[in-house]
Amino acid sequence: MIYEEKGGRLHFDGCDTVSLAKKYGTPLYVYSLTDIQNRIAELRDDFLDKYDNTRVAYAAKAFSTSAMLKLIDKEGLSVDVVSGGELYTAISVGFPAERIEFNGNNKLYEELLLAIEYGVGRIIVDGIEELQIIEGICEVTGKKTNIMYRVTPGVKSETHEYITTGKKDSKFGIPLDEEVFYPAVEDAIRSPWVNFIGLHFHVGSQLFDNGSHLGALDVLLHHVDEIRNRFSFEIREINLGGGFGIRYTDEPRRPLSYFTDPLMDRIKGHYKELGLDRPTVVIEPGRSIVGEAGITLYTVGNIKDIEGVRKYVSVDGGMTDNIRPALYQARYTGVIANKMDLGKDDKVTICGKCCESGDILIKDINVPSPESGDVICVFSTGAYGHSMASNYNKNPIPAVVFVKEGKDYLVVKRQTYQDMLRNEIVPSWMI
Ligand SMILES: *Cc1c(COP(=O)(O)O)cnc(C)c1O
Repeated sequence: MIYEEKGGRLHFDGCDTVSLAKKYGTPLYVYSLTDIQNRIAELRDDFLDKYDNTRVAYAAKAFSTSAMLKLIDKEGLSVDVVSGGELYTAISVGFPAERIEFNGNNKLYEELLLAIEYGVGRIIVDGIEELQIIEGICEVTGKKTNIMYRVTPGVKSETHEYITTGKKDSKFGIPLDEEVFYPAVEDAIRSPWVNFIGLHFHVGSQLFDNGSHLGALDVLLHHVDEIRNRFSFEIREINLGGGFGIRYTDEPRRPLSYFTDPLMDRIKGHYKELGLDRPTVVIEPGRSIVGEAGITLYTVGNIKDIEGVRKYVSVDGGMTDNIRPALYQARYTGVIANKMDLGKDDKVTICGKCCESGDILIKDINVPSPESGDVICVFSTGAYGHSMASNYNKNPIPAVVFVKEGKDYLVVKRQTYQDMLRNEIVPSWMI
């Protein structure tokens, strides 16, 4: 069990969370290595080992620290990066180039240069102009690179508008319009500088229904066939993106196979009918690998009981370490880690310390009566928490600790005030 209650305290992967809060200070991000490794084992059992010629690329943007990328490397997965900074992080831990894939809707020249010089496995091209930039870099460096096209399959997905990406009106992907897509494909096939290997889509995030992946796959397969018919060119790799939903509060968690089995069935069936070998199939999960493996610990400060309205319990972090409630109205749940054995007879709203009324972490949650000094644990903060953290109000970004079977390992130190000021300059004429 990842979670246990011992002596009234919450234990996480064998570690007492109240002691962790004391040892490292709060706010604190804590990740269970056991949980991450269990997710990776599920990816192996339900996808990698079940179907040959498949790959999993961890979407680094969900949580992209050096130790995490090293772990992904050691587990033998690929990594999907979306910026020069994420790419640099992968390079800095010696991530093998051929297992790096580079996504993003506006890759900068310097980012592409870094990627091509390092020799990344694939660049997933997200616009017509990008191909020309890549060709230019390949010409100058004398290196050839594998590319895929990210397309917009034009399907809608049932999730928050800000995290849908597959519908037609989107900043992501190349539209599949006849006059846009096929000339781009032809350019890629003919280019002496790139190796055009396949197509990619990513329909959205935090999905619980496989309908949008399946709908997008049908669109994709249609175009794969069109490309074969028009150019006698065989697409060798298809990438189905990520977006597999996780449990934050009471969502119905689906096994990965709920998504991957019908997708693989359809792909296999399609190629069997054609009498062709099926292409490599890649998925790019982010949230589903790290989301539920992470918790955030906070210390309670001020408590404001507004008679007949609401009881606000302020903690020492907030939207700076978890922007998702403010950004997407994301819902979380939590507990008082040092009062696990007491009845939940109080209803409170847990808010952060930032100067924004929207800085609320959990609205209306039942907990034992909170007091200043209590340790609050918010669950399922492992994805898009640390990676979206900011220094708003000049709050330092919290530390990150990995835990496994009772042992704790610091992997990111808490930012200091000095760290935050490192790049700031007061012009000499002001002094
Ligand atoms: C964000 C993203 C992912 C991962 O999404 P999750 O919901 O975290 O699984 C995968 N691929 C691409 C291209 C993305 O932008």
